[in-house]
Amino acid sequence: MSALLEARDLVRRYWMRRGAFGRATEVRALDGVSLTLERGRTLGLVGESGCGKSTTGRLVLGLETPDGGQVAFEGTPMPPPGSRAWRAQRARLQMVFQDPLGALDRRLTIGSQVAEPLLIHGRPAGAAEVAALLTEVGLREDHGQRYPHQLSGGQRQRAVLARALATSPDLLVCDEPISALDVSIQAQVMNLLMELQARRGMAMLFISHDLRAVRQVSDRVAVMYLGRIVEEGAPDDVLREPAHPYARALVSALPHPGRRGQRILLSGDPPNPADRPTGCAFHPRCADAVARCRLEAPALRPHADGRLVACHLAHAPAPQFVEMGAA
Ligand code: SF4
Ligand code: MG
Repeated sequence: MSALLEARDLVRRYWMRRGAFGRATEVRALDGVSLTLERGRTLGLVGESGCGKSTTGRLVLGLETPDGGQVAFEGTPMPPPGSRAWRAQRARLQMVFQDPLGALDRRLTIGSQVAEPLLIHGRPAGAAEVAALLTEVGLREDHGQRYPHQLSGGQRQRAVLARALATSPDLLVCDEPISALDVSIQAQVMNLLMELQARRGMAMLFISHDLRAVRQVSDRVAVMYLGRIVEEGAPDDVLREPAHPYARALVSALPHPGRRGQRILLSGDPPNPADRPTGCAFHPRCADAVARCRLEAPALRPHADGRLVACHLAHAPAPQFVEMGAA
C-alpha cells in the first residue's frame, strides 16, 4: 500500500528584486525536498525561520503548486488547486497555524466557524455535531456562542483544532501550533494534539523550531537548512546524537541535563535563501568544512540506524591513523 503522503524533489522558487532598479534574482525557497508520511504517523520538521518548513507545509496541503517535483496523496498526484478533485481532497488535509486569532474570523461565532467546513463538505452541521467537536478539544458547548476575542489564546487554538477536525482529516499540518501561546498553555495543547491523533489515527506534519515539542510528538524528524533536508531519522537518534554539523549546533542549544558537550555557537550569517552559498549551503558556518564543501552539494544519503544525512564528512570512511615520525 502506498504511503498516505509522498513528496518527491519539491522545488519552490520565486523572484526577488533588490531595490527599485535591481535585477531580479531567483530565490529557491525549496531545493529538492522529499518526504514520506505514513498513515497515523507524525513527521517533525525543524530548522531556523526561512529554511523552508512552512513552504513545505503549504505545498503538501496543495495551497501552493511546486515549481518542480510532485506531491502524491495515497499514491495519486495532487489535483490542480481550485479543481473539484482538489476541494474534495482538501477536506482530508487540514491545517493549524501559529496565530489562532488570524485564522479565525472575528465577526463570526466560534460555533459557526466550526460548522463551516461541515457545511462546505455537505455533512450534517447541527448544534450536536458542533458541540461534539468543541467537547473533543476541551471546550464547552457555550464557547460556541462566543466570538474569537472572547476566548483566551489556548481556547482559540482549541477552536481552530475543532474546525480542522470537522472534516475528519487524514492529515493535519501543524505549523508552529504552540509558539504563539503562553508557555503554561503549550503543554496542554501538545497533549491535546497527541490525544486527538491517537484517537483519530490522523497523520501529522508537525512544523516547529521547538525541538522538545518535536521530539515529544514525532515518529520521525527532518532537519531543514536553506530549502533542503540535511538530516532525517528517529527523533531519539537525530535529536540526541545528530550526525549533521548543523543539526548538532541546533541540538546543542537545548539545555539538557544528561548531555555531554558544549553549546556550539554558529558563526557567519544566518541562512538567506536569496544568497545561497555554493556547494554545501551550510559551509560558511560549518566548523568542519573542507575544500570539497565549497564546490559540491552533499546528497541526502543513508547513514547509520536508518537515518539520512547530507554531509560529505558523515559518509567519509573512518580516518586511518598512521603512525608518524617513526623514521
Ligand atoms: Fe559541513 Fe561540509 Fe558537511 Fe556541509 S558537507 S555540513 S560544510 S562538513
Ligand atoms: Mg514558518
